[in-house]
Amino acid sequence: MSVHFRKLALIGIGLIGSSIALAARRQGLVDVISIATRRQDTLDEARQLELGDIYTLDAAEAVRGADLVILCAPVGAYGALAEAIGPSLEAGAILSDVGSVKEYVHKIVGPHVPDGVRFIPGHPLAGTEHSGPSAGFADLFAGRWCVLTPAQDVPQADTDRLVAFWQALGSNVECMDAAHHDMVLAITSHVPHLIAYNIVGTVADLEADTKSEVIKFSASGFRDFTRIAASDPVMWRDVFLTNRDAVLEMLGRFNEDLSRLQRAVRMGDGPALEALFTRTRAIRRSIISAGQETAAPDFGRPHKASPAPDLSPLREHGGGDDA
Ligand code: NAP
Repeated sequence: MSVHFRKLALIGIGLIGSSIALAARRQGLVDVISIATRRQDTLDEARQLELGDIYTLDAAEAVRGADLVILCAPVGAYGALAEAIGPSLEAGAILSDVGSVKEYVHKIVGPHVPDGVRFIPGHPLAGTEHSGPSAGFADLFAGRWCVLTPAQDVPQADTDRLVAFWQALGSNVECMDAAHHDMVLAITSHVPHLIAYNIVGTVADLEADTKSEVIKFSASGFRDFTRIAASDPVMWRDVFLTNRDAVLEMLGRFNEDLSRLQRAVRMGDGPALEALFTRTRAIRRSIISAGQETAAPDFGRPHKASPAPDLSPLREHGGGDDA
């Protein structure tokens, strides 16, 4: 089975689109890459970075003659994009995407897919908090999962071809039902982002004095939330608008568990707290052994060697722990 495509059209060329372009080129998976985006500035930047061969602001023009089309824009833009490109898609082409939700994508794009075009939505579980064409890098997908949710009428050979494409980009690939994808991602990605946005928002609303202290002394806990809360506002707005039911279901469970935890703190229930924290530590270890996170201290952040600080004022106050 051939993993090679004649013409790859990328609609949207931010972090994910540019990473696909770089990885596909490096692996020799495509002859021609055509790129469409919304704004001239972004298109110019993509051209400067030499991410493709054809550059246009017209998505329909970009997909003409393409045998692989991947939507790489925010999910909220998909409806209008699908309507625009539908009539220009070639019979036999594979139409895919990278959006973080999948049921909505089937619902909004599906009706615009002409007969003979293979509709195989996808979601690479890889990303950073950076956006735009210059944020991409060819190794973004290495060792990360990519989930595909093929439409029911897609021949297995076409799904296999797209699986092979993502594997060649470095991903592990799994196919599943779109609703199942949305439920799993609601708890592993969407709700954690909502929690991060909430906690960082709470700090933003604190009195000015306290806020500066929090920022000054931000240790790993708060700092790691700020990394997630710096994620692209438009992309995440669309995630919560389009995966509402699954997110609300998981938030319900989260709230029940949080109430139980709040009660354990109020009652001074040490064994309950310790039992939970022991279980959660084991989960972190299993994520590391599955190769989905680094075991290096402090998430592998580089630490500058610096002269030993004078700790005497801290010792007087009884501690220097950052918990
Ligand atoms: P990004 O860096 O912000 O780039 C988005 C791209 O989409 C830009 O090129 C933007 O173009 C373009 N775009 C926006 N509206 C458009 C429209 N109406 N028509 C055509 N192009 C349009 O975003 P990203 O992080 O690559 O995310 C893209 C997709 O990947 C999203 O659907 C997201 O759910 C999914 N995803 C993201 C991550 C992540 O961690 N970032 C991970 C997995 C999946 P202009 O600059 O010209 O407006």
